[in-house]
Amino acid sequence: MIESNKAIKKQILPLLPLRGLTVFPYMTLPFDVGRAKSIKALEEAMVNNQLILLVTQKDARVDSPSEEDIYRVGTISKVKQLLKLPGDTIRVLVEGISRAEIGEITQTEPFFMAEVVEKIYTYDEDDKDEIEALKRSTLSTFEEYVRLSNKISPDILLTVNSIEDHGQLADVITSNLTLKVEQKQEILDEFHPRIRLEKLFRLMLKEIEILEIEKEINAKVRKQIDKSQKEYYLREQLKAIQNELGDRDGISGEVEEYKARLKKAEVPEEVENKVLKELDRLLKMPSGSAEGSVIRTYLDWILDLPWNKSTEEIIDLDKAKKILDEDHYGLEKVKDRIIEYLAIRKLKSALKGPILCLVGPPGVGKTSIAKSIARALNRKYVRMSLGGVRDEAEIRGHRRTYVGAMPGRIIAALKQAGSKNPLVLLDEIDKMSSDFRGDPASAMLEVLDAEQNFAFRDHYLELPFDLSDVMFITTANNLDTIPRPLLDRMEVISLTSYTEEEKVNIAMKYLVPKQIKAHGLKKANLKIDEKAVRDIINYYTREAGVRNLERQIATVCRKAAKELVSTGKKSVKVTSNNLEKFLGVKVYRYDKAKEKDEVGVATGLVWTPVGGDTLSIEVNLMSGDGKLELTGQLGDVMKESARAAISFIRSKAEQLGIDKDFHNKYDIHIHVPEGAIPKDGPSAGITMATAMVSALTGMPVRRNVAMTGEITLRGRVLPIGGLKEKVLAAHRAGIDTIILPVDNKKDIEDIPQNVREKLKFIPVEKMESVLSAALVNNKKDKTKASSMKSEDDKMIIAEEQAILGDADQNTDMIQQ
Ligand code: ADP
Repeated sequence: MIESNKAIKKQILPLLPLRGLTVFPYMTLPFDVGRAKSIKALEEAMVNNQLILLVTQKDARVDSPSEEDIYRVGTISKVKQLLKLPGDTIRVLVEGISRAEIGEITQTEPFFMAEVVEKIYTYDEDDKDEIEALKRSTLSTFEEYVRLSNKISPDILLTVNSIEDHGQLADVITSNLTLKVEQKQEILDEFHPRIRLEKLFRLMLKEIEILEIEKEINAKVRKQIDKSQKEYYLREQLKAIQNELGDRDGISGEVEEYKARLKKAEVPEEVENKVLKELDRLLKMPSGSAEGSVIRTYLDWILDLPWNKSTEEIIDLDKAKKILDEDHYGLEKVKDRIIEYLAIRKLKSALKGPILCLVGPPGVGKTSIAKSIARALNRKYVRMSLGGVRDEAEIRGHRRTYVGAMPGRIIAALKQAGSKNPLVLLDEIDKMSSDFRGDPASAMLEVLDAEQNFAFRDHYLELPFDLSDVMFITTANNLDTIPRPLLDRMEVISLTSYTEEEKVNIAMKYLVPKQIKAHGLKKANLKIDEKAVRDIINYYTREAGVRNLERQIATVCRKAAKELVSTGKKSVKVTSNNLEKFLGVKVYRYDKAKEKDEVGVATGLVWTPVGGDTLSIEVNLMSGDGKLELTGQLGDVMKESARAAISFIRSKAEQLGIDKDFHNKYDIHIHVPEGAIPKDGPSAGITMATAMVSALTGMPVRRNVAMTGEITLRGRVLPIGGLKEKVLAAHRAGIDTIILPVDNKKDIEDIPQNVREKLKFIPVEKMESVLSAALVNNKKDKTKASSMKSEDDKMIIAEEQAILGDADQNTDMIQQ
């Protein structure tokens, strides 16, 4: 059927072989011609009808092709222009007319002539729809091709779209594709327009597929290139930044620096190996990585530690004593103990002595004594507060796998000290507690134990550190809360509260000069007289130590400095009278001894963490039926003491001259005024009993007597604690006679001599003795009570003899 609508046209035309170029019908293009044979063919064409057959060579490299070297089908073209170029080259402009097959070569020299056969197909009406469909598909495929290839101007689409003839369409499209010569020739070979278009369509589909793959590959490659380019760029930037910062070779320079530090640090071999290993890891890290900075922190810690640095310890007892005296007033016992301790250390320096533990209320100089010891021994001093430490890791560090892990405080303290034999003060070891995160006390035990601490292992460092040269001193407010095994390793030295006299001395000799200097003043600028210091102690501070005193003195100095500057005065004098100008109104006041003997009011003595105080206990009787009422800030133990006292009185009512049925007739109200500080403890027992007996008998209590002691149901007086503080408070309040349990007699010698001299002490064993010493017998004529009274004078005499003697025996004797 195809054959049937084909027309054949033959003619003889000159032939020009093309190299690497295929000319299609409907295509106009210029090309240069240089071969002599080709030029002759052109010339031949020009003298005839300007028609020439352009046929592509199979191999462009062949210079003088023979018949076999060219394809069989070419394009009859019209030469439109000829242009002679320099040399023997001619530029021609040709227009493709129609394809034609070489029938036979009629001449080969001086140029090719050939018989050319055109096969012209007419349209097959029946195929119209099919052809239209094919055209559309081809067009859209071509569009896709154009889009993908990027090499073809999209303008061509307009031209192509307007072509009606499908054979022409195939030719025009093909001539615009970038195809190999063979592929183009395949299309050119096809005379039948529809088949040609089909071929083209298939060819384009294949090409598109290739283009897509190509594009994909391109995109991938580009991405890779982009990424590596970006990294390259960033690295270069980083290098530039490092250069700017003076780090010329980045990490490797850093590693060298670490190595130099390692050399200087003179570390043990195990440490050195570890550091080298870490440096190796660091080198392999990309610069700026998080891991890298973890390694750096670790290395810095290791290299900052004083593995082999120490100060030379000097144990010179005379010098030590001098330094301790220089820094601290009084504390003779404590200083002696410390000197003894140092003496022993000197004798057996290789052996590890126990750890010193300084115990006492706040502000009594524990920390500052430790500092002086460090100074005396020429050791570096580091203070490490253990208050509130609950986690073992705080002592021993976190493992390095934790984010933000750090060494524990022991290692941190050594780094701070910068020497491996510092004096480390473990402050407030009694405030350490344990919880689910582990027990810091057991870690502390390892630190303090001479058998183990030569290879203390911090979790973070993962290396042993020798702590055996470190001198540890601990402080505590209270021994009760120190774990037993820790306490066993310590030698306890107690520091007690200061008396007013001691405080005055400390202030005048140490604190005032220290603060004057600290505030940039001169001695001549500020005078604080002794009376003023005494007032600061009594009315602006209430403490066992001198910490607040020091703070108040600092305030005075500050205010004085301001006054000096603002008024231009040369000096300021602080006296008791103008003290309020500096410190404001008085903050505390103290009970003064009562003006006269009173019934139902007795003075007791209490111990508080900030020192001792006096305490008036008042008792009132009201008719009623034996109810006991207690008011004021009283703890449970104190309430129980009150009950014990009543029991005692009931059991001895007759002997004491009290109505046997008093508990059925009266309600008893006990009140403890001045309740700002909650008071508890059994030591007010005898005071309550005395106040009650006084109320029940109507005998007044001597105004100059204060007492302390626990009472039992049978009226025995049991010992109490804190006698020194209590006695000092009594003295301050103007009391001159102290009744105390006989078992506390030994504590009297702790009381400073000057206070002791001014007081009478009556040690008692039984409640009866308390009553005879404390009550004024105004009922001379009455029964038993009078018998007590009648003996009273004798007792007072006995008392006089027995300031430190055995008054109790005397009073007991009198009572028998
Ligand atoms: P602590 O450690 O017992 O709480 P500190 O050592 O901090 O007390 O003492 C508080 C202040 O009181 C320090 O400035 C200290 O120098 C001073 N201080 C304490 N006792 C004396 C003393 N006996 N002589 C001189 N200054 C003292």
